[in-house]
Amino acid sequence: MDLRSHYPYWLLKHGIVKTYPSVTESLHADIAIIGSGITGALVAYQLCKEGFYVVMVDKRHVGQGSTAASTCLLQYEIDTPLHKLISKVGERNAVRSYELCLEAIEQIGKIAHNFKHVEFIHRPSFQFASFKHHVADLQKEYILRKQYGISSVEWLTGADVKDKFGFEAPAGILSADGAQLDAYRMAHSLIYSASRNGLRVYDSTPVTAIRHHKRSIELKLEGKYTITARKLIICCGYESQAFIPKKIETLNSTYATISEPYEQTNFWYKNSLIWETANPYIYLRTTSDNRILIGGMDDTFYNPDKRDRKLKQKAVQLRQSFQKLFPHLDFKSDFEWAGTFCGTKDGLPYIGSIPQRPHTYFALGFGGNGITFGQIAACCIRDILVNKKNPDTAIFSFTR
Ligand SMILES: Cc1cc2nc3c(=O)[nH]c(=O)nc-3n(C[C@H](O)[C@H](O)[C@H](O)COP(=O)(O)OP(=O)(O)OC[C@H]3O[C@@H](n4cnc5c(N)ncnc54)[C@H](O)[C@@H]3O)c2cc1C
Repeated sequence: MDLRSHYPYWLLKHGIVKTYPSVTESLHADIAIIGSGITGALVAYQLCKEGFYVVMVDKRHVGQGSTAASTCLLQYEIDTPLHKLISKVGERNAVRSYELCLEAIEQIGKIAHNFKHVEFIHRPSFQFASFKHHVADLQKEYILRKQYGISSVEWLTGADVKDKFGFEAPAGILSADGAQLDAYRMAHSLIYSASRNGLRVYDSTPVTAIRHHKRSIELKLEGKYTITARKLIICCGYESQAFIPKKIETLNSTYATISEPYEQTNFWYKNSLIWETANPYIYLRTTSDNRILIGGMDDTFYNPDKRDRKLKQKAVQLRQSFQKLFPHLDFKSDFEWAGTFCGTKDGLPYIGSIPQRPHTYFALGFGGNGITFGQIAACCIRDILVNKKNPDTAIFSFTR
């Protein structure tokens, strides 16, 4: 699958970082993980901490799937607003999903603290109403979040928005609890750290088939080797669909552009993450080297050639939308990239097992919160494997 255009910013910035050998013999382990993106990295980190003997394989190099293209806003706000999620999955599960995302941001922050260069920074998250007729729904959302005590939220009127952010919008919700990250670098740091804790990592190693035995699984690798393990964790991002008999994902295309570095370091209120209610939408964040990153303008197709052909035009549209909000911040695009992006019917990830694949767990953080979902998956799967009861796991099951 073609997950992204060739030159996402993080890949250009850091290059390859580190490579690992490919498999040159058949292997045995407690647990095998397929996928070395941010999800596989978070899962491996947790499992190695528990003392499991883990082998990780990836057909690409570490982090070079969707993770290298991510714009890395860490938000507890799921693609589906709370008031809509309640009607889809019920009050308890909807509220708990929001709480789990909040907890995941904190957990990622604590882990990130151990590493250099991963650029985890707490940021407020500000969602504004793109149009007057969006205000009523946004207000409903604000009231619900306050009622359930989810994050510290503040309602901003049009005048407040102008005062704090300097642009015109009818209203917005300002939340205290967001963050930003460099997920590509974080995946590398997690995997390197876990490899010093027993993880064996092999890149350039495609898994071509999975066999399920009575008490184990067997991965057939390209070439003659196999990996056998008691348990398997599939962290193959949007390519995981190949291992699932039922279609669970909808594929879209998304775009991003990043500015040249500015002289100034403060752009708007606390350099918040900014996003809007319109669809198609744009979203914004800043970087530690004083760039502004704009993403969005999604298309509802999976066609990598068409996606990449549209990239220049999409980058212009992203810049123009940004300049309408901030005409005084002359946005000079330095790099732009595109990626495949996947949603689910309710905006929640799929975590857990399916009957067709015994001894196997999926960690599929599909949606705009892919990174925080990856951390939730890591905790759920760790708890399953250490036989610790975790009622949250059911929220993300395939049978929900
Ligand atoms: C442009 C863009 C912006 C985004 N912005 C955000 C954001 O702001 N916040 C957020 O939380 N999320 C965001 N996301 C989503 C987020 O990036 C993804 O959810 C996340 O990177 C997925 O990580 P992953 O490890 O699950 O998948 P991947 O990074 O794709 O890793 C999966 C790995 O599995 C390997 N693999 C697949 N099949 C096989 C096989 N058969 N054999 C061996 N290896 C295999 C692949 O090579 C790959 O390296 C964005 C995504 C894009 C594209």
